[in-house]
Amino acid sequence: MALTGLDIYKLLPQTNCGDCGVPTCLAFAMKVASKQSALEECPHASDEAKNELGAASAPPQKLVTVGTGDHKLEIGNETVMFRHEEKFHHQPGVAVLVDDQEDVETKADKISNLQFERIGEEIYVDTVAVNCSSGDAAALQNAARKLNDCLGFPLILIAGDAGVLCETGKALSALRPLLWLRGGELGDDLVSLAAEKELPLVVEGDLETCDAAAQKAKDAGVGEMVLCPGEVGPAKALEFATKARRAAIQKSHRPLGYPVLLRAWAEDPAQQSLEACHYVSKYAGIVVVSIDSPEYILPILTMRQSIYIDPQVPVQVEPKLYEVNDPDNQSPLLVTTNFSLTYYSVLSEVESSRIPARILAVDTEGTSVLTAWAADKFGAEQISEAFDKTNALGALEDGYKKPVIPGLVAVISGELQEEGGCEILVGPKEASGLPNYLKNEWNKLVG
Ligand code: SF4
Repeated sequence: MALTGLDIYKLLPQTNCGDCGVPTCLAFAMKVASKQSALEECPHASDEAKNELGAASAPPQKLVTVGTGDHKLEIGNETVMFRHEEKFHHQPGVAVLVDDQEDVETKADKISNLQFERIGEEIYVDTVAVNCSSGDAAALQNAARKLNDCLGFPLILIAGDAGVLCETGKALSALRPLLWLRGGELGDDLVSLAAEKELPLVVEGDLETCDAAAQKAKDAGVGEMVLCPGEVGPAKALEFATKARRAAIQKSHRPLGYPVLLRAWAEDPAQQSLEACHYVSKYAGIVVVSIDSPEYILPILTMRQSIYIDPQVPVQVEPKLYEVNDPDNQSPLLVTTNFSLTYYSVLSEVESSRIPARILAVDTEGTSVLTAWAADKFGAEQISEAFDKTNALGALEDGYKKPVIPGLVAVISGELQEEGGCEILVGPKEASGLPNYLKNEWNKLVG
């Protein structure tokens, strides 16, 4: 039975010391009851409280770790169905499938290039799934070792034969791979190996099968598992992931309280990429794909980054004056907000245009142009304050002291002209219009 905040409060020290980051024990108890905090965050909780609350206050979905060291993948431990309720905690691993009979080094090279920079963050493929199509444990081991040497990513070992998987899992146990017996029932040997070596295990089947098999494996000592519906289409996969998540989070049903692995099976690469994007949004812990071209992988990574950003924390860059392409005293001064997506859109357009410029990112607490303007954070007063603070105009020759504001806020140009004491130019509404504006219009208006 779910514990109430009051049940938990009764077992806390009730000193309101605040060491858990919450001002009172009651507030902390409410957070534990809603699974937003774990009891371990109270350093003063007694052993009695830990014993009584331990299992009941544990997160509804188990944290599963694949791999070791800096590159380890942590998935699961989610506490909500929807990100607006709180946030999603652990982004899914995006795993590219490698066949143990292909040229593994060439493939590793390709995978290592699947990394991109987006809104100031590196986003990249972080997991590899090695499939034993050879049917030979030595070949699987060899391919997995080579991939580990080349990439160091967490490994998913896939085989259709339990003996092959056991042998390889045992040999590579120090790398803590995730073991996936494709289409088979978990045998005693595989379960014993996972329990003894503390390796994570994929439990495959429909929800009913997973429910029973996960419970059995847990009773046998397996601590970390990943649920998988097997080879099913997108509709069934999404149904599986959603129902498993609901069972864990809304009904505290422990046997399904594990992250889910979904494989995108579509043969057409664009379709497969789209399928994987859906799985990232609901509710995969790992997504396995066979596509390995940047144009198909980037949408998946972009989706992952967007979904797993904390919606309660605005994504922002430092509000300051940025120089792009080595500007001089006759370069354009572009004014925008410090919302990351806005700033990086402007930056990428200016960079690709190769025109030297300065970008003034005004502190709007990480909100976009129109939102900031509507909230009175991107008006004449704030922008003119930013001019003074950064001495943005001081770096320019007289005829070039003409800041360009986004077309979306053209309405403030008159007031800003008075506040800032300089002529204001109105740029395009969208960042994508900047290269054309800077090349063909701006230079006619300055000098
Ligand atoms: S750290 Fe523990 S004792 Fe202190 S306020 Fe938080 S819950 Fe209460």
